[in-house]
Amino acid sequence: MKRLVILGGGESGVGTALLGKEKGFRVFVSDFGNIKKKYKDVLLHHEIEWEEGQHEALKILKADLVVKSPGISDAAPIVKQLRINGVPVVSEIEFAAQFTSATIIGVTGSNGKTTTTMMVHHILKQAKLEAVMAGNIGESFAKEIKRTPDYFVLELSSFQLDGIEKFQPHIAVITNITADHLDRYDYKFENYINAKFRIIMNQTKSDYLIYDADDPVIDTYLKTHPIQSILMPFSLEKSLEQGAHYKDKIITITNQKNTIQMPTSNLALEGKHNIKNAMAAATVGHLLKIRKETIRESLECFQGAEHRLEPVLKINNVHYINDSKATNVNATYFALESMNSPTVWIVGGVDKGNDYSALYPFVNEKVKAIICLGKDNDKLFENFESMVDIIVETQFMSEAVKIAYKVASGGDRVLLSPACASFDLFKNYEDRGQQFKAAVRQL
Ligand code: ADP
Repeated sequence: MKRLVILGGGESGVGTALLGKEKGFRVFVSDFGNIKKKYKDVLLHHEIEWEEGQHEALKILKADLVVKSPGISDAAPIVKQLRINGVPVVSEIEFAAQFTSATIIGVTGSNGKTTTTMMVHHILKQAKLEAVMAGNIGESFAKEIKRTPDYFVLELSSFQLDGIEKFQPHIAVITNITADHLDRYDYKFENYINAKFRIIMNQTKSDYLIYDADDPVIDTYLKTHPIQSILMPFSLEKSLEQGAHYKDKIITITNQKNTIQMPTSNLALEGKHNIKNAMAAATVGHLLKIRKETIRESLECFQGAEHRLEPVLKINNVHYINDSKATNVNATYFALESMNSPTVWIVGGVDKGNDYSALYPFVNEKVKAIICLGKDNDKLFENFESMVDIIVETQFMSEAVKIAYKVASGGDRVLLSPACASFDLFKNYEDRGQQFKAAVRQL
């Protein structure tokens, strides 16, 4: 019996453990931290051996194969030791993919993964295709294998892609690439770019890559690295003979001279970035030969994900918008870009080395007040103090929202779009978004 060791007992690790056991492996789950009770219960129920608070090297090094959770860095001592010993270490995505014959659509990128994955899944479901969404979203891919759908729509982080060897999505989407997570890539942007592009490394001439042609990082990579995949670019700026473009509020998608057109005036989600996401998702639909009407209707009734430019309430004609998931400058750029009235902006948290200069034009043009919500707000003051009349700081969400309420007047927007991670004052971005919504509801 082959030994499968899983490092990390979270959603992905436990899903892999169950799949491994079902496929006849002898499974051992090892987590250096604590395993949540709900996952322990599952492991116990399925009689899968596990440990927490340590990595028992002797047991782990005996493995025939190791699946590493995306949360564990390659720099972790146990991973280094495994590599020295020549034990293959892969990601859950790599392990699970061998057990499905479904067509795989993989979505990666720095921003817009969740939204685009959900849009694609929604279009496929509306077209009555058997499709399951997994990966970084919802249940783990490994756990969902047993549902044997015809299509998997997977949200893939760079960490999941780091651990692939043979994984080959038929359709890959790269929404955009901006600097993020550089701490895991030796602070080299190039390493992060290469990780994202692993999504196409096993693609052949009959597979597709959908990508943002307006993104200079992607553009440069493709010019310098010849790839096999059929290219399906999308663009807001250029007119394209192959791929998707946007002009006069109409999306045109062409694949080998086969063209469909769709108006965007009734798209459910606002913002240029969501037109990009819609172009990417609609291109997947077109490649899968889904009817144009179905694609259009799906995009018109698509409900956005929580914490992504999510409308909360309108109070005294002021709109409150929760964009807590904006944990980097690029996401906030598109949030501010889509504001069409004076905006009170709540920003701040853990700064991951942000360069705020891209936001200056929007702040000058649209932002009437800034409320800094972080432990350390010095950098925000340095960047924006001269641009707005009101800039204040607080460490409490309820206070931030109360100040916003006082400063905003009819027709304005109050936008929580932090451009920073949340863990200085909150458990995670969901907690930050929930606290924002609760505070707004209490006004
Ligand atoms: P991810 O899963 O990649 O983090 P999400 O769909 O959860 O992406 O969105 C994260 C943040 O980025 C949100 O603030 C959202 O409004 C913003 N966003 C969504 N799509 C894009 C895009 N194509 N480009 C830039 N920002 C985006």
